[in-house]
Amino acid sequence: MHELSLAEEVIKIAGYEAGKNDAVRVSEITIEAGIFCGVEIDAFRSALEMLTEGTMMDKTAINIQRVNGRGFCSECDKEFEMNNRIDTCPVCNSFPSEIRRGHEFRVVSIVVERNDDKD
Ligand SMILES: [Zn+2]
Repeated sequence: MHELSLAEEVIKIAGYEAGKNDAVRVSEITIEAGIFCGVEIDAFRSALEMLTEGTMMDKTAINIQRVNGRGFCSECDKEFEMNNRIDTCPVCNSFPSEIRRGHEFRVVSIVVERNDDKD
């Protein structure tokens, strides 16, 4: 499953950050998910929950920020917002020659709790 390997990837990134910062817990992970990224958000959340149970990422708040797509029309040399895969250039109505945003799925921030935060 695609979502499972993505969850593993996110855990690896968060684990690395946690290790680097001597963290005892990961409290928050923010992920940017483009509307064309093809990730089933619910499935991703469940995979993450399943994989992190009982770890320092158990109960971590997962913020998913949806990002709209951006298309580029080479005819008009214009970039435009896409809310839908079938959106066309607002000037000439043709399909974008390139989709520049909307496929991303990446971790944008990780908040960790350190041991000395509690002293
Ligand atoms: Zn155009």
